[in-house]
Amino acid sequence: MRIGGIILLGEELEPVEGYLCIRDNIIESIEEERCKEENLILPSFFNAHTHLGDSIIKDPPSIGLDELVKPPNGLKHRALKSVPRKKLVGAIKDSMESMIAWGCGGFADFREGGVGGVLVLREALEWVNGGGKNLVPIILGRPLADEVEDVLRVCDGLGISGYNDTPGVEGWSETCRKMGKILSIHAGEKDRSDIDGALSLEPDVMVHMVHATDSHLRTCADEGINVVVCPRSNMATGVGLPPIKRMIEMGIDVCIGTDNVMLSSPSLLDELSFCWYNLHIDERELLKMATWKGRRAFGLDGGVIEEGGKADVVVVNLDTKNMRNTTDPIRSVVRRCKPEDLRCVL
Ligand SMILES: [Zn+2]
Repeated sequence: MRIGGIILLGEELEPVEGYLCIRDNIIESIEEERCKEENLILPSFFNAHTHLGDSIIKDPPSIGLDELVKPPNGLKHRALKSVPRKKLVGAIKDSMESMIAWGCGGFADFREGGVGGVLVLREALEWVNGGGKNLVPIILGRPLADEVEDVLRVCDGLGISGYNDTPGVEGWSETCRKMGKILSIHAGEKDRSDIDGALSLEPDVMVHMVHATDSHLRTCADEGINVVVCPRSNMATGVGLPPIKRMIEMGIDVCIGTDNVMLSSPSLLDELSFCWYNLHIDERELLKMATWKGRRAFGLDGGVIEEGGKADVVVVNLDTKNMRNTTDPIRSVVRRCKPEDLRCVL
């Protein structure tokens, strides 16, 4: 297969005109030459924070964060307890297929419900990937009571609700480390009372950090802790916006996720434009956050267009009514690209 257009090459997403030659899902060569095709070819997205189980609720009332998501009795947890398994698998599958259609090649999910919860997600994923797709998962489980090792045996790591609402979290994180798995935790979402505790666990990835001080951010930068931001979710729950520019200035590897499906669609196109409109983050930096930085945070390679790399790419049609006359395709894809402007997702 040969696809032409403006190709965003390497980690710096350097625009080059030419053709990608793909064989057996690998980029065999990149031929730089003049080309008439009106495409922008970029690495597929990686959604670095989702709760796909929430796909069973699409329209929660405007209530506070704790009433919505705090375990064990927040709205989502009550809904998850009562939903039939088949309905849950189907709802998660719908969100996964939407993510692929919107340019996503992988995701990192906080999966509630212990071992059973992880297996539900795996069933939905097999259904999607069995249809010829290749959505790459990072599954971060959440134990019910004393099944930490059992959960870690069936997934990639822990996705902890928060330091203050998880009794025994130190023991969990110790087991996680011993088993060589990923430790990830929400922190600094509603306020900063749980950030020091979360940092004391030395996690691989922290999610939110809306209320982080410079001192917290310095610790993340010094210790190589990745931060995932979810700005639309933060606005939906009224907690404010994360200091993304400051995080980047301080040298943190920031990546981006869409958080609870009940609060915001799992669309990184929407998340990127929201970030630009509300925080004016540089568009190229936003694309790095949404592609290779997300994968790197969870120990995955890919998310970069290079010879010999996986052909995990999104082709944007620059000749639609929405995209035509762009003079800077990187800006345009971040600010205004819609799912209908995507020619294909490989
Ligand atoms: Zn979350």
